[in-house]
Amino acid sequence: MSLQAAYYNLPLKEFDIEKKEGFMHKRILETMYIQLDTSKCKACWSCIEECTNKTIGKVDIFFHKHARFLAIEKCTGCRKCVKACKFGALMPLTPEN
Ligand code: SF4
Ligand code: SF4
Repeated sequence: MSLQAAYYNLPLKEFDIEKKEGFMHKRILETMYIQLDTSKCKACWSCIEECTNKTIGKVDIFFHKHARFLAIEKCTGCRKCVKACKFGALMPLTPEN
C-alpha cells in the first residue's frame, strides 16, 4: 500500500480510483441526498454508526480526522446521519418526503 493510501486509510482499489480522478483535489462531499462539510466535522463517528448502508467512512490519521463518503451510490437519503450529527456537518440536499 502506498503512503498516501495508508494516510487516508483507504482500501488500495478505492485509492487508485481517486488517484486517477485527481486524489488530492477531488473530494466527494455529496451523495444524491446529503452534503458533508468536513470543516464542521468533529470526527465523533456517530454518523458512521447510524448509516446502516455503510455509505460513510473515516479519514483518521494523527490530527487529520473527518467523515467522508465511501460509496455514494449506497445512500438512500434516509437522513439517519443528519439526525446523528450534532455539529451540522451533514445536511440534506433534498426536501423531506
Ligand atoms: S442518508 Fe442514510 S444512507 Fe445516506 S449517508 Fe446518511 S445514513 Fe447513510
Ligand atoms: S456525526 Fe458529524 S461530526 Fe460526527 S463524524 Fe459524522 S459528520 Fe463528523
